[in-house]
Amino acid sequence: MVSKPRILVVEDESGIADTIQYVLETDGFAPVWCSTAEEALRQFAAAPPALAILDVGLPDLNGFELFRRLQALPGGPQVPMLFLTARVAEIDRVVGLELGADDYIAKPFSPRELVARVRTILRRAGAGQGPGGAPQATGASAAPMPLEVDAERMQIRYYGQPLDLSRYEYGLLRLFVQRPGRVFSRDELLSLVWDKSSDSFDRTVDAHIKTLRHKLKAVAPRVDPIRTLRGTGYALHEDLPAVP
Ligand code: CA
Repeated sequence: MVSKPRILVVEDESGIADTIQYVLETDGFAPVWCSTAEEALRQFAAAPPALAILDVGLPDLNGFELFRRLQALPGGPQVPMLFLTARVAEIDRVVGLELGADDYIAKPFSPRELVARVRTILRRAGAGQGPGGAPQATGASAAPMPLEVDAERMQIRYYGQPLDLSRYEYGLLRLFVQRPGRVFSRDELLSLVWDKSSDSFDRTVDAHIKTLRHKLKAVAPRVDPIRTLRGTGYALHEDLPAVP
């Protein structure tokens, strides 16, 4: 018997929690609902789940503090965590402070998107176990990624074709490929891809994304693999078509 991955859902609004539980159950997960941080800490301590979804605005403790406390529990650092947030300022905090959370979903969210995100995170967590680690049975069908990074040659292939990228275009795309679906703010991209000393601004990122998109489009005119999240940043689409 394959046990269903247990997902901790920490959300004080029962309506939202119901929706999340419903879509998770439908997709073969075993959600455990906690309406307070205290309950979440107790559930987590009893048995660490496969993944935890944390609402930022909880009645007894904010989601960030809860995240820190969960991480401090035995097995905590191994559990992927996803924030649920309604406010742009909170999103900035999740993305900008590099709390180490795996992702976030902005409210209002699409339940399908939430489940897709959960699946991707668990797939990554399974893949990250190393050669000896068995992939986790999440019922996910891992689509082949049409972007392949050859770090030694500093080259990226897209649908089998090598891309002719500038240094920063390469840096951006490599970062996206490492974390499909993960949203990166412009500030974050600047600090992760650009040299500290270089004179760069938000618009520098936008300009490089634009040229990068142009090169990707030349290979696959009908696919736009980079998502723009207005006012937030950029992310790579998780489910790219297998053929362009
Ligand atoms: Ca709330």
